[in-house]
Amino acid sequence: MSTHPTHGRIDGHIVMIGFGSIGKGTLPLIQRHFDYDPEKLSVVDPNPESAAFLAEQGITHHQVALTPENYRQVLSDLFPDGKGFCMNLSVDTSSLDLMKYCREIGVLYIDTVVEPWAGFYFDTTDNAERTNYALRQKVRDEKAANPGGPTAVSCCGANPGMVSWFVKEGLMTIANDLGRDDPVPEDRAGWAALMQSLGVKGVHIAERDTQARAKPRPRDVFVNTWSVEGFIAEGFQPAELGWGTHEKWMPETAHRYDVGCQAAIWFERPGAITRVHTWCPTPGPQFGFLVTHNEAVSISDYYTVGDKSAPDYRPTCHYAYHPCDDAVLSLHEMFGAGRPQQVHEILEPDEIVTGIDELGVLIYGHEKNALWYGSRLSNAEAKTLAPYQNATGLQVTSAVLAGMVWALENPQAGIVETDEMDHIRCLEVQRPYLGPVEAHYTDWTPLQDRWELFPEDIDESDPWQFRNVLAT
Ligand code: NAD
Repeated sequence: MSTHPTHGRIDGHIVMIGFGSIGKGTLPLIQRHFDYDPEKLSVVDPNPESAAFLAEQGITHHQVALTPENYRQVLSDLFPDGKGFCMNLSVDTSSLDLMKYCREIGVLYIDTVVEPWAGFYFDTTDNAERTNYALRQKVRDEKAANPGGPTAVSCCGANPGMVSWFVKEGLMTIANDLGRDDPVPEDRAGWAALMQSLGVKGVHIAERDTQARAKPRPRDVFVNTWSVEGFIAEGFQPAELGWGTHEKWMPETAHRYDVGCQAAIWFERPGAITRVHTWCPTPGPQFGFLVTHNEAVSISDYYTVGDKSAPDYRPTCHYAYHPCDDAVLSLHEMFGAGRPQQVHEILEPDEIVTGIDELGVLIYGHEKNALWYGSRLSNAEAKTLAPYQNATGLQVTSAVLAGMVWALENPQAGIVETDEMDHIRCLEVQRPYLGPVEAHYTDWTPLQDRWELFPEDIDESDPWQFRNVLAT
């Protein structure tokens, strides 16, 4: 007998766009946790590689690439009765266009990133236009222009996604551990006021992926634990972060915005070669890459107190990502060569011989210094929890599952980001797939353990200034 709870019924068709590492890993979770008509589940993906696998599962495979020209026709054919669920787990498709169309025809929608149509990341020379700020702002503008209506969950993977729920859990943990008696806030203003009152200066999305296979990485091959294409694209975007009110200095090449939420800045430098000092439980202090991510902007925006252009309070927020060691070497090789490798490999769960994906939020600058709150899922445990994915994949796909459950339970919520969803309900659904979810305090600050013989340009008056976090 199945031990997997059914979380709801999906009426109508279910269409998965993209069947790469995340799509394939999400499939068994849908099969386990939803009641639906199996004949109405189909996959849209131009790649023929999965055809045999999908045929074995009795799932229709539409082997087509969605484009700006064909997406309305393809989706209208796949949702003939105007209800169902569209899961966008692809690269090179516009999240905004797809979510707008799904809402137009009354279909629920979810994605894990604000993805643009093919070409966007490399075809424009205007770096401000290539930021996640710009991509996200268009989705926020659409939400403002057309509030309510069918639910479209934007950016609901591990990060962006789950980490926004961890921020809330982390804040409540800090409040409780300080002996405070705060009730769980009920709205955005309440959460922002809680973060401000705790004295939080910022949040790193602090990740260390130690998954590795036995075979050394071959030269000229980009190896990663999730989409290589997705990682290269975001790695070449400008470094970008939510910008807190406590910051006293910014890099010379930094730019602010005077349109939109104004919560972020970006630099004239690719994120995947911009290093920051950060901390995770396994390695302790480590370098992370300041790769741009939607949550860096959304979290700083969500927790803003006061006017967006001159806020009373706003936290700094950014990704501090140490990908698996093979990916670090792949980045080094790629930026050195000045061109991406042609061969891409995603580490399969069965070839990984060791390692965990330690993904959490480092909430810093408060009375207890810093708290890391997150999932420390090993590949070995992930394999026992669900098929077809490594630890990284399962952290993402289980967030997709949680987001879908939330959407089914809140079908007229309009366009939402994960900061705006019920984190308790979402983590209730997701937690069985996350391995150990732990809170770790640390007394580490970016001023500790530095190279005394080569002192960097630092601000000793406040360890948590971004000036000290950024590695020169
Ligand atoms: P992948 O590269 O393994 O697979 C992407 C799939 O999209 C491929 O199968 C490809 O054939 C398909 N595709 C390409 N162009 C398409 C088109 N025009 N129409 C339909 N399908 C198309 O990537 P992945 O690891 O499965 O990641 C999928 C998405 O999830 C990416 O956008 C990635 O950035 C995102 N992601 C988000 C998180 C998160 O935590 N939020 C984590 C990992 C991945």
